[in-house]
Amino acid sequence: MRVSRDAGPLNGDYMTDVIIAGAGPAGLMLASELRLHGVRALVLEKDAEPTRIVRSLGLHARSIEVLDQRGLLERFLPLGQQYPAGGFFAGISKRAPDRLDTAHPYVLGIPQTTTDRLLAEHAAELGARIRRGCELAGLSQDDHGVTAELADGTRLRSRYLVGCDGGRSTVRKLLGVGFPGEPTRVETLLGEMEVAVPPEALATVLEAERPEQALVFVRTKIRCDQLYRSLRDRGMNVKALHGDMSQGARDGVMISFKSGSLPLLVATDVASRGLDISGISHVINYDVPMSPDVYVHRIGRTGRVGRSGRAITFYESRQARDIQAIENHAGVKLSPWVKDAHVAPTPVKAPLRRHSKPHVSANGDAKSSKVIVSGGRAAGLEPSDIIRAITSATALDGEKVRNVRILERFAFVEVPESEAERVVEKTGGTEVRGHTLRLELARA
Ligand SMILES: Cc1cc2nc3c(=O)[nH]c(=O)nc-3n(C[C@H](O)[C@H](O)[C@H](O)COP(=O)(O)OP(=O)(O)OC[C@H]3O[C@@H](n4cnc5c(N)ncnc54)[C@H](O)[C@@H]3O)c2cc1C
Repeated sequence: MRVSRDAGPLNGDYMTDVIIAGAGPAGLMLASELRLHGVRALVLEKDAEPTRIVRSLGLHARSIEVLDQRGLLERFLPLGQQYPAGGFFAGISKRAPDRLDTAHPYVLGIPQTTTDRLLAEHAAELGARIRRGCELAGLSQDDHGVTAELADGTRLRSRYLVGCDGGRSTVRKLLGVGFPGEPTRVETLLGEMEVAVPPEALATVLEAERPEQALVFVRTKIRCDQLYRSLRDRGMNVKALHGDMSQGARDGVMISFKSGSLPLLVATDVASRGLDISGISHVINYDVPMSPDVYVHRIGRTGRVGRSGRAITFYESRQARDIQAIENHAGVKLSPWVKDAHVAPTPVKAPLRRHSKPHVSANGDAKSSKVIVSGGRAAGLEPSDIIRAITSATALDGEKVRNVRILERFAFVEVPESEAERVVEKTGGTEVRGHTLRLELARA
């Protein structure tokens, strides 16, 4: 076996006093504390690079107190956000305690990646050595100290070794220390949800833009109601418009929006059909449109009759491909929104189609059928792939392909009832991302 160059002789002279396995918060903090007491510390971390996975999202009062005692808090505070100690967590609403016996009665929201980085810097400044890409694989001890063996065969010698290598600790297993417990009896289920842009982001944009009249598009009726309530609760003069509302209620909203007395309207695509209002200065896509056609239709609501308009689209990084599809289709390059910044209006190349009057059911929505598509996230499929596959196979208007939901192995999509069988027949067998699509009608 090889002996590391900086390891001393195997007995007697030690390369360090303490070897710490694991450069998580525990290992890094221990290394700093040892250094403050003049003890030599070497941290061995198996990962060559710091992880980008964020686990802990916040620090509680006791951890904050320790950081304060060590003069570290001023590094953490500017990089985090302070939240009240009470609040809503894991579905439970908890009132903030009246008097906390601490100088820091708050939760500091800060990602663990930042915490780990700051703790590593602190440990290094105090003289601790941190060696990455070093996995502890074996150890033995004698009366004089510990010999640690790394995965590459290197052997290191120290007086002590401390396992700070997390929940699946190698050190614990090597020492034969048990981790007793009993099997969990909790049923674990998966709930699929959409991560949404917070309403605060929209409020910030609206505040900065000061629109004469803004039309905010969302994808579903539920989100329409949620966003409407959230904006209303912020004191905004806003109304919602979607297909679940009675015809009378929809007419009332339309009239006040058309008259200009209502400055802000949150609407779904179906409900917004036929909105032909010259005063709309802003169209905001709070949800990325389901297809480039829908985008063109939406932004066509502003900048009418020779007036200028602004169209702003919120998106998450995972939707970058949808944005690219919109850019390609509409022949525009979308610039990032910056307060007070203006870009030259770009003519939209795709013709704004006249939409045939939709077949409207009793509740105001076009009657649609749900189709199940084989292949989902596991096959790398995204909503835009499915919409594109259907529209290319059937020449159906992208706007008619709605409510695409991608699950792990399946996807659901809604198409007009009258077209459903043709969609299943023509799109089945299409290759998308190396995956052959198979479609079938979902039973009602
Ligand atoms: C999903 C999730 C959410 C969490 N949220 C919170 C939160 O909001 N607030 C909070 O306070 N805590 C939270 N925690 C807990 C927090 O992340 C842990 O308490 C903390 O990371 C434990 O620190 P540690 O240093 O003991 O271990 P770890 O952070 O697990 O670090 C162990 C390190 O040892 C390394 N290692 C493993 N094996 C070896 C080996 N053989 N040789 C060398 N290196 C090795 C690993 O690569 C790792 O870097 C969360 C945990 C999870 C999983």
